[in-house]
Amino acid sequence: MAAADVGPPDERWPDHLSGAPRAARGLTDVAVVIGEPVEHSLSPTIHNAAFEALGLDWAYFALAVPRGHADRAIDAMRALPFAGMSVTMPHKDAVAGLVDSCTPVAAKLGAVNCVFWRADELVGHNTDGAGLVDALRGDEGFDPDGRRAVVLGAGGAARAIVLALADAGCAEVTVVNRTASRAELTARLAGDRGRVGVEADVADADLVVNATSLGMGDGALPCDPDRLGPGQLVVDLVYDPPITPLVAAARDRGVVATNGLGMLIHQAAHAFRSWTGQDAPVAAMSAAASAELAARRRHA
Ligand code: NAP
Repeated sequence: MAAADVGPPDERWPDHLSGAPRAARGLTDVAVVIGEPVEHSLSPTIHNAAFEALGLDWAYFALAVPRGHADRAIDAMRALPFAGMSVTMPHKDAVAGLVDSCTPVAAKLGAVNCVFWRADELVGHNTDGAGLVDALRGDEGFDPDGRRAVVLGAGGAARAIVLALADAGCAEVTVVNRTASRAELTARLAGDRGRVGVEADVADADLVVNATSLGMGDGALPCDPDRLGPGQLVVDLVYDPPITPLVAAARDRGVVATNGLGMLIHQAAHAFRSWTGQDAPVAAMSAAASAELAARRRHA
């Protein structure tokens, strides 16, 4: 191609890009989720729907970052810079050690699922537990204050939930897990209201949360559903399939039961607020996630 066809950038770009989207001029704010695997993440759908609903010139992308390489992603966030970052497995613990500071909740958990800027510093935060509590209060009309909760599981999600339920005023937070040592560590996050329990404890709980990996297409139940009964609320953190084996079994027994989509949306809403300073359009985010899940099921 002859040089004259292209022309020097300083002569061509202003005309060429006048009226172009801000993205073409490098003005769009970019947020990302890092993880591996990350290709099935709903976060791009949820956050891009939120940006669109509020008319914000932001764009959100999923970046596959291999285990052990979170430092490169944080370096990239500082250098480019990204305006916000979500962090999913397997990087949540590593990122807690790579940011400039952590919020109190992220520091207690030693795990970060959201990174935001405050002045020139990167702050690591964890919105999973607050997301669950918002979903309980906002979507289910359930106030944890003074209630007894059983959390099944003691992994990253369970830890965030145990801490958040205690902070929200639960009278007792019982942790039931396959590996006893992890249950002990997780129960400690609830202070003197936390204890390690056994599966039979679900019978006495006001709230039962499945935070194990069981139920994601394996048909497995994390507890005997015959221990559940009316008056209880069951939340399964799994949301695909939307009616998990636990949700179905609980509903069969007259128990109010819901999946983890509400928690996913509300934890994203907290991240959105920390990046943009604006209230998140939760309804638009939820509708987009539900539509995306339905489309995936149709094409499965
Ligand atoms: P994780 O850290 O790997 O923990 C997995 C938990 O499941 C551990 O307590 C583990 O017990 C238990 N588990 C795994 N296989 C088991 C089996 N065969 N029998 C009994 N227990 C078993 O995972 P995570 O990040 O906490 O995630 C847990 C679940 O929550 C996943 O389904 C994830 O997709 C979901 N999640 C949902 C949201 C949301 O927003 N809805 C957010 C985060 C996570 P051991 O300690 O004995 O290994």
